[in-house]
Amino acid sequence: MKIESFIRDIQNFPKEGIGFKDITPLLNDIEARKEALKLLVGKLNGQKIDKVVGIESRGFFFGTLLAQELNAGFVPVRKPRKLPFDTISESYELEYGSDTLEMHIDAIKPGEKVLLHDDVLATGGTAAAVCKLIERAGGEIVQCNFLMELDFLNGKEKLKGYDVQALIHY
Ligand code: IMP
Repeated sequence: MKIESFIRDIQNFPKEGIGFKDITPLLNDIEARKEALKLLVGKLNGQKIDKVVGIESRGFFFGTLLAQELNAGFVPVRKPRKLPFDTISESYELEYGSDTLEMHIDAIKPGEKVLLHDDVLATGGTAAAVCKLIERAGGEIVQCNFLMELDFLNGKEKLKGYDVQALIHY
């Protein structure tokens, strides 16, 4: 089964000039979703994972499925003031301005093996900031995996030194 055919291209979303990769058809189809999960798990080659970190909000879907499959805890990383308990935060630069992401202070214990997951790797700024959060908490990043990577934006450059995996490359 080709999971690529369950990714929908939306032009000019969320703003003019942007081509958005929509994963909702993949979430909606039981067999395609199972296949994508199996392929993501396969990228780990059996390595043990204690925590899966998913990035708000599209990283939560396969992040929780991965955590269930890998018998690991799930950790949501969210935009500011969404998490109710004490947090650590990281800010990162965007094309215009900056953004901040937060994680609960007790979500990862020192030495835990962590898998970072998000739907799309674009410029890599988001994932790089989350890597910093994980390492500040003492987590050991085993792999960063994504459903899709926009190769032409060179996001991997910002994730140098990490094992970066994606199921679909554009
Ligand atoms: P980056 O920081 O530039 O790598 O952007 C990655 C973040 O933007 C991820 O959290 C993605 O969910 C989101 N993103 C970027 N491009 C797309 C897209 O085409 N479809 C869905 N999400 C996207």
